[in-house]
Amino acid sequence: MKILILGGTTEARALAGALAGRDDLFVTLSLAGRTANPLPQPVPVRSGGFGGVDGLERYLREERIDALIDATHPYAATISANAAHAAAATGVKLLALSRPPWTRTEGDHWLEVASVAEAVAALGSVPRRVFLALGRKEIEPFATAPEHVYLVRSVDPVDPPLPVPHAIYLTARGPFSETDDRALLERHRIDVVVAKNSGGAASYGKIAAARVLHLPVILLQRPALPDVEAVETVDEVVAWLDHPSTSAATRGV
Ligand code: NAP
Repeated sequence: MKILILGGTTEARALAGALAGRDDLFVTLSLAGRTANPLPQPVPVRSGGFGGVDGLERYLREERIDALIDATHPYAATISANAAHAAAATGVKLLALSRPPWTRTEGDHWLEVASVAEAVAALGSVPRRVFLALGRKEIEPFATAPEHVYLVRSVDPVDPPLPVPHAIYLTARGPFSETDDRALLERHRIDVVVAKNSGGAASYGKIAAARVLHLPVILLQRPALPDVEAVETVDEVVAWLDHPSTSAATRGV
């Protein structure tokens, strides 16, 4: 069976690792090609966009892919929509490996917003010290609020930097622990965190640290994703591949 994993996440890498040793499967992992130094992967990798939904359809046909696993990040809505369309058009089986979102617990002060522009507005006009953990592609709108001090963490450098007078840049790749993120927030005297609701453990440190420090968190709501069969763990993907007649629950249902 030929399998294409759409990746760029910790889970996609873990899934590739779980399937790598099997001689009944030919597994390829697809990366968008965004990070300058991607981590080594346990299976062959292809990199870069397919050229929209038509390009992905062509790839699935030409490579004779039997099963497509969408293990992309929950905010990667375009590639997930393309995967759903291309799988339907080609008859390739599709399964999404989806991280459940974090849920609010006691002590959390979350403000959920629908867009980055709303997150900027939610900061208000009184200068604040803001931890921006959104990913470097999303932060441009904060240029319209130069009165704040920004601590920006991303995997690759932010280039060009934000045109604001006070910004500090950190490049780091998760996982990030609560202890380390708490120390970071304290060291920079952060008073508000802006983040995506990524789910999973690797980036939860800042959320847990904000709770302990009684800091508000402005959380960007997740984008709508296509209703396709979805599971939450690598083991469930393996079981689905091994028992093709079984079906998983539809995402969001
Ligand atoms: P996106 O907006 O859904 O995708 C934009 C375009 O990038 C897609 O149309 C596709 O180009 C290409 N692409 C995305 N993922 C791809 C993959 N795995 N393999 C080949 N092409 C891919 O996604 P994004 O938000 O830019 O995210 C890009 C990648 O980074 C994803 O793999 C995602 O898992 C990972 N990531 C995203 C976030 C996030 O917050 N968005 C966080 C961590 C990791 P074509 O249309 O040309 O095929």
